[in-house]
Amino acid sequence: MVKSKTTITFYGGVNEIGGNKILIQDRETKVLFDFGLSYAAKKRFYSPPFLSPRSEKSLQELGILPKIKGAYKFDEEPCAIDAVFISHAHMDHSAYLSFIKREIPVYCGETTKIILQALSEIRRADLEFNVEGIEFQTFRTGNKIRVGNIEVEPVHVDHSVPGAYGFIIHTSNGGIVYTGDFRRHGAKHEMTEDFVKKAEKAEPEAVITEATNMTGAHVSSEDEVKGKLNEIVGQANGIVLADFASTDVDRLNSFYSAAKSHERCLAVSLKQAYLMEALQEDKHLTIPRLSDDSILVFRKSKRVRDKWENALIEKYPDKVKSASEVSKQQCKTVLAL
Ligand SMILES: [Zn+2]
Repeated sequence: MVKSKTTITFYGGVNEIGGNKILIQDRETKVLFDFGLSYAAKKRFYSPPFLSPRSEKSLQELGILPKIKGAYKFDEEPCAIDAVFISHAHMDHSAYLSFIKREIPVYCGETTKIILQALSEIRRADLEFNVEGIEFQTFRTGNKIRVGNIEVEPVHVDHSVPGAYGFIIHTSNGGIVYTGDFRRHGAKHEMTEDFVKKAEKAEPEAVITEATNMTGAHVSSEDEVKGKLNEIVGQANGIVLADFASTDVDRLNSFYSAAKSHERCLAVSLKQAYLMEALQEDKHLTIPRLSDDSILVFRKSKRVRDKWENALIEKYPDKVKSASEVSKQQCKTVLAL
């Protein structure tokens, strides 16, 4: 008997940074691993916020969204994908979930679900960041999820967003390891080592990984970053401006601790505050509360506010500060932009 082949098709993430969309097919079972936005392809045609995509069809016509039969909620085809697994909440791995048919189960970690739902609420009007209607199924390390002929074992890894996973994928033709994004110099590097050990033990036939920095460049650990921040904040007389990704909880904690040690407040944006509030639900994360004495929320002046912004302002009236209020206490503030 001729054994049927397991195939791996890359719809994104090759010769580019991110945009991962990997289809693994084992006989009639089809599972997608990550479904991210391809920044490089999008940049060729759009420049948000001035020029943003208006319709799913235009994204497909321009080749930004690949043609995958039976995958999208806007196509008439019957559903032909059995599941989608998301490794982590970065947009280049997850944003195009927006277009996935809502009857396809989407598996991810609990933290990823919280982040994607919060960001989707913030970007409600945005065509590309909408997870409304998706029935997320969450997993943890140690779970084994069977989808038809494929069994998926998620294992935690450390990355610049909490709740990241790599996958050990068991097919009828052997194991495939998909690393997702990971780092070995981060605050929880032992999680990546757990994944490496389990991946090695699985003796996979193939490993799928993405490398953006294969040089010998020195990478600072989060502890080193924390030390440098402490020094800089300690030496500053005026306001300290901070810039980091809103989903990078380790970096948020480093700035918070540097601000606190020098009797300053960390003033975060409304978006950051909304995400921090949502992530309180995740009992495995350490993240400062908005009620903390060393946290303030900075609101930019804006004529019309979204519902989520108003709700936050109403809930924390003493915490939310305008530009002129922050300006009056700038020597006591680290302002995250
Ligand atoms: Zn990432």
